[in-house]
Amino acid sequence: MRLVHTVSELKEVLAEVRTERSIGFVPTMGALHKGHLSLIERCQQDGNFTVVSIFVNPLQFSSEADYEGYPRTLGVDARLLTDASVDVLFAPSAAEVFPKEQSFPEIDPGVVGERFEGEFRPGHFAGMLKVVSRLLDIVVPDGAYFGEKDAQQVALVTQMVDAQVHSGRREPMSVMVCPTIRSEQGLALSSRNLRLSGAELESATELYGALVAGSKAGKQSAEIVEAAKAALSPAIRLEYLELVDASSFEIVERIPSGGARLIIAAWVGDVRLIDNLLIGGSK
Ligand code: AMP
Repeated sequence: MRLVHTVSELKEVLAEVRTERSIGFVPTMGALHKGHLSLIERCQQDGNFTVVSIFVNPLQFSSEADYEGYPRTLGVDARLLTDASVDVLFAPSAAEVFPKEQSFPEIDPGVVGERFEGEFRPGHFAGMLKVVSRLLDIVVPDGAYFGEKDAQQVALVTQMVDAQVHSGRREPMSVMVCPTIRSEQGLALSSRNLRLSGAELESATELYGALVAGSKAGKQSAEIVEAAKAALSPAIRLEYLELVDASSFEIVERIPSGGARLIIAAWVGDVRLIDNLLIGGSK
């Protein structure tokens, strides 16, 4: 695996590869776990030259404390990626991604971005889209791989890429969505889980338990949400738990034929976790 820190070196490496191979890209913020590795595996299975980025994007954190406290484990991550036979690890500095002498357009997340995560984490989606767009401009991949765990993020990235391709601003590329990888107890793997104590880790499994309870409760949103909430103990401080349309993230009254997404965000101790489950659809 080649470790690259600068945009110019990455572009040089990829210019050569591009003539012969498709390029697959997996953007991450590091502190890698099996969820990230599943995206990488899928990218490799699709036959791509695989580029993984590790960049803790300051623009998408709502508080300085959350940004500072985000786990940074580059040495361990690099070893994991080497073992996974990744071709390139791109680990740039903030100045490399957003050089001061250049300006980068703000990207409006639109109405989908105002709901749920957008409401509880002001600025998060605008910051996320700005960095994803910039990274896609640097890597110019044929496909980029994202986790369904961050379902609203996937919806917004897909919306952004479609618009950019449609306007001719970006070459056609695919946004690939990969299923959520969970612990044996059902907890969605997340870099933030590293900050949970043993007891908190146990409580955190209630989030998935609630989604499953909701998924078995019928077709009406009211009964689904009620059953899901009933599965949560006081250790879980809920921010939202709703049944929504899988692409618009608008609240739905009942599960439509294509399915709906039950989404949850909650605090366990001082760690904020999100999860979701597609229910009633074919997936
Ligand atoms: P992050 O490093 O948290 O920004 O995540 C990088 C990518 O990995 C995003 O596309 C996430 O949705 C994805 N991801 C994070 N956790 C999981 C998981 N448990 N299963 C599958 N994908 C995940």
